[in-house]
Amino acid sequence: MTSWRGLLDSGYRSRLPVSAATPTVSLHEGNTPLLHSPHLSALTGCDVWLKIEGANPTGSFKDRGMTVAVSRAAEAGAELVLCASTGNTSASAAAYAARAGLRSAALVPASGVARGKLAQAARYGAQIVAVPGSFDDCLRVARQLASAPGVALVNSVGNELRLAGQRTVAYEIVDALGSAPDIHCLPVGNGGNITATWEGYVAYGRGLPRIWGFRAASPQTEATAIRIQSPASWEPAVAARDASGGLIESVSDTAIFAAYRELGRHDGVFAEPASAAGVAGLLALHAAGRVAPGQRIVVTLTGNGLKDPDAASDYAVVDVDTFAGSLAG
Ligand SMILES: *Cc1c(COP(=O)(O)O)cnc(C)c1O
Repeated sequence: MTSWRGLLDSGYRSRLPVSAATPTVSLHEGNTPLLHSPHLSALTGCDVWLKIEGANPTGSFKDRGMTVAVSRAAEAGAELVLCASTGNTSASAAAYAARAGLRSAALVPASGVARGKLAQAARYGAQIVAVPGSFDDCLRVARQLASAPGVALVNSVGNELRLAGQRTVAYEIVDALGSAPDIHCLPVGNGGNITATWEGYVAYGRGLPRIWGFRAASPQTEATAIRIQSPASWEPAVAARDASGGLIESVSDTAIFAAYRELGRHDGVFAEPASAAGVAGLLALHAAGRVAPGQRIVVTLTGNGLKDPDAASDYAVVDVDTFAGSLAG
């Protein structure tokens, strides 16, 4: 068996918007685990699978689109890769830019970016630019700066290259399961990933799931990857929802963090808080009697829990005598 060399060279090059002249800028992204969840299957009476996107090279699904966007930026002779980001896009853009020998800069909200993501962007050599306000303000500034010479803006908004790369998650799921699931659950921030996931199933032509997307109910959610006030790709996200006969609903931070803990404790998967929104939504709909039993369900876990250590810092530590005493029972 030859080893995996990423989406462009091992995966789905013929389905991606690159030509023979496009250099491959890759960190061997994609080919992530699709893990069965006995716990969630038992809870829901369904057959539930987890797509572990935190296993990508920089720890989120953003790498799927970034290999395409930065390969094309390199082909076009760009000098600087620019993005607005709640954190994961900047980490991914910086890593792929480093790989391509390009400079990168990330416009991030002055507060509310998880520590691990900033650490990544810094180590990958990005210039980190703090913008007062929210992600929405970062995106506005990024669009203004994008017209400078040599700058490639790699946000997913209207970026066919990023979305084409992100479609590959559906190809991998269909290849692993043999056909599309009945339902695909995922978190929704700007709405790019729900759009790309749906388009992936449509393009692959081996069955269509209903797409269930979940946003954070609170605009100040602690699930910072989906702390988005006005989703930049809302129209295509709604179109994907409707074409699939699916839904987009909101989940509370209480539900998101409960699901975040359950994933670690019962499935051995440490996903970042935003990633748990798909599980939180599935469980909420199940509790409301809206999930018919016996369906095959895939849930995308979008990013790695290590990115946000502060979200996981509320644990107890006991001294060794207390522990030894508990064993003596
Ligand atoms: C980017 C991101 C999202 C949201 O994806 P959109 O395409 O903006 O809807 C969700 N979870 C994580 C971990 C992310 O990095």
